[in-house]
Formats: sequence, C-alpha cells, structure tokens
Amino acid sequence: KLYNQVQDLKGNIRVYCRVRPFLPGQPNGLNIVDHIEEGNITINAPSKYTKEGRKSFTFNKAFGPSATQGEVFSDTQPLIRSVLDGFNVCIFAYGQTGSGKTYTMSGPQELTEEAKGVNYRALGDLFLLSEQRKDTMCYEISVQMLEIYNEQVRDLLVTDGHQKRLEIRNSSQNGINVPEANLVPVSSTSDVITLMNLGQKNRAVSATAMNDRSSRSHSCLTVHVQGRDLTSGSILRGCMHLVDLAGSERVDKSEVTGDRLKEAQHINKSLSALGDVISSLAQKNSHVPYRNSKLTQLLQDSLGGQAKTLMFVHISPEPEALGETISTLKFAERVS
Ligand code: ADP
Ligand code: MG
Repeated sequence: KLYNQVQDLKGNIRVYCRVRPFLPGQPNGLNIVDHIEEGNITINAPSKYTKEGRKSFTFNKAFGPSATQGEVFSDTQPLIRSVLDGFNVCIFAYGQTGSGKTYTMSGPQELTEEAKGVNYRALGDLFLLSEQRKDTMCYEISVQMLEIYNEQVRDLLVTDGHQKRLEIRNSSQNGINVPEANLVPVSSTSDVITLMNLGQKNRAVSATAMNDRSSRSHSCLTVHVQGRDLTSGSILRGCMHLVDLAGSERVDKSEVTGDRLKEAQHINKSLSALGDVISSLAQKNSHVPYRNSKLTQLLQDSLGGQAKTLMFVHISPEPEALGETISTLKFAERVS
C-alpha cells in the first residue's frame, strides 16, 4: 500500500543501478566506482569524460558489488504483488554485454537457490501470494517467452526448434498480444524452471561461439495472471514482462559490416526507442512514441498508464568499460 502511494507521488517509473563485482581471476585493479550511497553512485572518470575527474549519478536505488540476489529482489517484491491486483508491470535489465543483466534476471550458469535471479523469485512470489489469497481469489498463471532479434519476434517456448516469425497483434479483448506464441499454464516454480531451461536452450541454439546471439537479442518472459473473485465472480487481469535486453554497447561503424552492422543498428534503434518511450512517460508527454520498435510495441500496454516500470541499469567496475559505463548512466538518467 505504502509503496503504491509513493509510486503515485513519484510516477510509475523507477530506476535501480547495480554494479557488478570484479570476476574471479580478474585483477582487482582500479575500480571506477568511487562510492555508493543510497541512490547515488560516484564514478572516477578522467578528464576525457568529466571536468572534475568524478561524476555523480542519482537513482531510486543503487546496489554495490556485494549486494546479494535476495537484496536486489526485495525492493522488487511490491511490484509482484501489484500484478496480482491487476496491474501491468515491466522489469528491464539494461547494460553492456558482461555487466550482469542475465545474472540479475536469471542468475549465474551454476544456479543455486541463493543465486536465483528476479525471474525465479518473481514467479515464486506469485505462486506464494496467490496461494495466500486462495480463500477469496482464484488465480491462473501462464507464461510466454519471446525473443526479439533484428526486429523480428520469435517464440522461445517451441519444442521442435523451429522458431517462426510472429506478429504482434492488438485486439480490443486481449490488448497487445502475440497469439501464435505458446502460452503455457504454470502452477509451480519447477514448471517455470523447466520452461526457462527450454527458452534458454532455444536462445542458445541460434548462437555460435563467434556470434553470441543472446547478447544481441532481447528476451522477454511474460507472465499472464488472471484472477477471479470468488464472491463477485469478477475477473481481473495483470501481466508482467521480465526483459533481459540486448547489450547496449555501441559498435564502431567503421569496424563492422554486414550482419553484425545490421544487428547493431537494430539494437541501437530499439534501445533508443525504449529510452524515448520511458523518458516521455517520465516527463508526462502527451505523445508517447510506442511504434518505433518491436520492443516498445510489444510492451505498449505495460508501459505508461497505470502500469509500473522498473529498470535495472548495470555497470561493470573495470576502467576499460568506462566509456560504456558513462553512456549507460546517461541513458539511465534520461529515463528516470
Ligand atoms: P550480461 O547478461 O549483461 O552480458 P552476465 O549476467 O552474463 O552479463 O554477467 C557476466 C559474468 O559476470 C557472468 O559470468 C556472471 O555470472 C557474472 N556476474 C554478473 N553479475 C554478477 C554479480 N552481481 N555477482 C557475481 N557475478 C556476477
Ligand atoms: Mg546476458
């Protein structure tokens, strides 16, 4: 309740920043993050980037390298509750490749209970809360998993490996939807794990060692919730999109050609379309440019209006990443 009131005052968009720790085996050298204090991150940046040699950025929340998956998720929990109340929610992971997006959303490859990311925890909470409300409400939960690659939408929940190109539709009854994508009913966390493994497998199939497609496509786990009030019989619908975005790094146009250039242009276009939509919502503009990318079209009825948005912005601690880190932080400032 309190959270919803705060949201009403501050708008429905929140931005959290997360700094990845140095990885095992990495020289624990110079850390570009000077300090982190509540929602503030101060970056040590040489004069090439800043006059003062350092720069501060402010977010709704900032998580340092030692923040656990549980701590990161705990601030997300109120959003999960609101899905069961019939709101639409979008949670994004933004950042350059290697900054920890997949870690936040799914977890590391060796998945322990502790290391489970937002996706698993969110679904776990949905099951738990819907169970707690079972005397008054009956919930049905189902999931879709889509990938957007080169402005084409594909189903990640296929079992025959054949991912045909799908259309986004807008119907008065169901709103924005992808009717041809598999929509799978789930009733336990283990159902969800099975599906997420399938989705991850399908995402990896199309990647080669040289061409890690997963970092160049957006993946979107969509959870549809339908609740029936057992007394009145009335139905409410909520949905939650959990989006692991394509890597935000800029590629040098003089260095890449062909498919790689095309991919880069598509990513660039969709991430800036997302930035444009969120910043125009944050500024309460009357025109919101949803139609400029498949990503924003797909998420249209979960961005703006009564919907709630949370963006996790990821940065790497290495000095080599500074250029990307600063552009990531600037993107985040623009949308908050
Ligand atoms: P991205 O999805 O942005 O490309 P990953 O999530 O794959 O990045 O993270 C890159 C590497 O860093 C992975 O090996 C991952 O397990 C590790 N990593 C990322 N964030 C953390 C974290 N907060 N704590 C420990 N390891 C992390
Ligand atoms: Mg990733």
